[in-house]
Amino acid sequence: MKQPSDLELIALTKRYGETVAVAAIDHRFRAGRYACLLGPSGCGKSSTLRMIAGHEEVSDGAIILDNLDIAHLPPSRRGTAMMFQSYALFPHLNVRDNVAFSLRMAGVSRPEREKRAMEMLELVELQTMANRRPDQLSGGQQQRVALARALITRPQVLLLDEPLSALDPFLRIRMRAELKRLQRELGISFIHVTHGQDEALALADEIIVMNDARIEQAGPAIEIFDRPRTAFVARFMGGHNVIDLPRGSVALRSDHTTLASAGSGQVDGTITAVEYQGTHVSVTARTSGGQDMTASVPASAFFDSPRELGETVGLTWQERDAHPLSA
Ligand code: ADP
Repeated sequence: MKQPSDLELIALTKRYGETVAVAAIDHRFRAGRYACLLGPSGCGKSSTLRMIAGHEEVSDGAIILDNLDIAHLPPSRRGTAMMFQSYALFPHLNVRDNVAFSLRMAGVSRPEREKRAMEMLELVELQTMANRRPDQLSGGQQQRVALARALITRPQVLLLDEPLSALDPFLRIRMRAELKRLQRELGISFIHVTHGQDEALALADEIIVMNDARIEQAGPAIEIFDRPRTAFVARFMGGHNVIDLPRGSVALRSDHTTLASAGSGQVDGTITAVEYQGTHVSVTARTSGGQDMTASVPASAFFDSPRELGETVGLTWQERDAHPLSA
């Protein structure tokens, strides 16, 4: 197999009339990595993915794969493939024919396409279901057929738009592990659009956080969570306090924020909420400056010295855990 190559976006832009959905973004997706495009609804994730796939016209900019600008090639000639939601399967075709469909369109002979479809079904562990119709499969199995159907074209880059959103929470976690396993086994790049922070943290080698048509921050999952650069990223990833200090705004993880007796912390606060969350308890306090701060305390420690609503406590943290924010 040939060496996989990076996919690079250069000043990629999408306009719908007056709306700028994607504003001249630059990004290099490294070959063979699992990348998640993460952000709130409407920030431009799907438009970006659909431009890479060729399902949406590029307004401006370039998409480089294998030293070639693919921005204006038809979808089937780009070296990318899009995994569609499972409801896009053909209801009247059996599983094998669904998976082989794009090869049939490309004029590949029946024996060859059936052989390759069976290889793909083996990859997603559905080889025994080849003769069933989609409506004879569970939701999770249909999703795996959709995946096999996208992978049969041997793309360098697999594009996935909210692939897990239609599944119930239990299946979502199983399917998530399945996606990760496939990406590792195939060694190709996955670009996965999601608005779920947990999903991105669980899957991604690299997270690209988008906000308002731009890339707010991109980097390894650990870096995005531990060292958010902006208040937006800190708030969107969750689990952080964004606090204004005399020297500027900082992000501080709530599990790096601890409770102490009043007067002995960096700041005092009055408890406004106590939420039991199984492994830990989230205690929110309002400081005299009017800022809400949350301390995420291990449940066992909390119940050793329980706190009450309305109680005044000190909040403490290590200076090294408070990361300066740029905006
Ligand atoms: P996301 O995937 O992050 O939810 P989208 O890429 O779907 O965001 O949308 C980005 C912006 O572009 C939004 O303001 C949305 O309303 C707008 N938009 C998306 N598709 C169209 C379209 N076909 N026509 C007009 N505006 C669109």
